[in-house]
Amino acid sequence: MPDFQEVADRVWVARYDWFDVNVTLIGSDKGLVVVDTHGSTRAGSEVVGDVRRLGAGEVTAVINTHWHFDHTFGNEAFRTAYGEIPIHAHENAVAELAEGADDRKQRYRDSDDPHRDDVLATTVVLPDHTFSSARVLDLGDRLVELVHPGRGHTSGDLVVRVPDVDVVLAGDLVEESAAPAFGLDCWPMDWPLSLDIVIGLVTPSTVVVPGHGAPVDRDFVETQRNEIGVLAETIRDLATRGVPADQAVAAAQWPYSPAVVEAAVQRGYEQLPRSQKRLPLI
Ligand SMILES: [Zn+2]
Repeated sequence: MPDFQEVADRVWVARYDWFDVNVTLIGSDKGLVVVDTHGSTRAGSEVVGDVRRLGAGEVTAVINTHWHFDHTFGNEAFRTAYGEIPIHAHENAVAELAEGADDRKQRYRDSDDPHRDDVLATTVVLPDHTFSSARVLDLGDRLVELVHPGRGHTSGDLVVRVPDVDVVLAGDLVEESAAPAFGLDCWPMDWPLSLDIVIGLVTPSTVVVPGHGAPVDRDFVETQRNEIGVLAETIRDLATRGVPADQAVAAAQWPYSPAVVEAAVQRGYEQLPRSQKRLPLI
């Protein structure tokens, strides 16, 4: 059972084996804010148990960093344990979760994954407090900022900044224990620019908590930004030279393995503006 580790004054992170995903607690005069809720109602209930063992207070709000089920499917457990507390997310994340949750369940229905029954038994609870660009939560003795830096890992990622202790929770815009996750809902051409916004929120001493893995620093985020930047520019170069999408992965060197970049290349090709046919000169 993971314990919540205090990474800064009243900011605790627990790292769960299933998906190696992080759940963060932010303490305040107005109770605890939990950031991400793990991947099923049962997994969320285990997080609730860990929160209670920590003994730092009651959860009064939830934040989902993006729609993916390993960050949102535990929402029901927190509503069951703590009542009708607000659940915050970016507006696109709510739409994506509403649209994508059944597909995720379907994939588990067709699998023999040990978490299959837990995922299928989960009632998806959508965030009910949304924003477009930024929102500040006033927790009494501290402020917490939610910032949508632009599209990247999904179209609705947010980062959480706790300015009084110089902590940034980056969601899956930053990953430490694996390569960044490029799925068929990612925006690889936008991702480096969104990370530039995140880097603008980060100082040399900021503790950056990724969606998966151990806390990192600004250098790590800059390195990951540069790798994703190389990925995006390589996609642009291949598309500009007319390399067909189905040959693109094999046609270049990549900062990550071919299996990791495959969906990114597909998405990048879809998102690049179509080249205009040149009109004949008269
Ligand atoms: Zn994700």
